Amino acid sequence: MFHIAVIALGSNLANPIEQIQNAIKRLNTLPEIQSMTVSSLYRTAPVGYTEQPDFINAVAIIHTTFSPYQLLHALQDIEQQFGRERSFRNAPRTLDLDIIDFSGEIYNQPELTLPHPRAHERGFVMHPLAEIAPDYPIGHFGNAQQLSQKLGNDGIEKIM
Ligand code: ADP
Ligand code: MG
Repeated sequence: MFHIAVIALGSNLANPIEQIQNAIKRLNTLPEIQSMTVSSLYRTAPVGYTEQPDFINAVAIIHTTFSPYQLLHALQDIEQQFGRERSFRNAPRTLDLDIIDFSGEIYNQPELTLPHPRAHERGFVMHPLAEIAPDYPIGHFGNAQQLSQKLGNDGIEKIM
């Protein structure tokens, strides 16, 4: 049984473009991920804590046999392997992998909230998602295309 999930990738330390490209390669090696569609890479201005380098962001849509928690833990393992240190929310990071949506399922736990509670207000997630799946629905907030238009593309630049 396949599920469709959306993953957001972000990095702003230690050659972020390479971090994102390597994370995509790593995800592709997991047997529980059967297919993957990846957006372009975007350079984006930091949100929240702004005294830090620009981010590189991308979004991937996967077909997966993982459960939501299995996927979360697989993503956390990869973050660890990429040298992620957890300091504070919105801190600079070598790699952040968030689950944006998992087949429309709703989870309300601190460890896993689905759809991701802030994704609909983040242009750096909605913009890349709209590029690969404009009709993708984000909870009751609308689809990726509508949300990315509403948020605008200030501080978001497609680089490759
Ligand atoms: P952030 O991405 O908000 O900057 P972290 O990556 O350090 O922060 O994640 C903090 C916590 O968020 C993690 O321990 C994780 O369990 C939890 N979390 C809740 N919902 C999600 C989700 N949809 N995707 C990824 N992590 C989530
Ligand atoms: Mg995260």
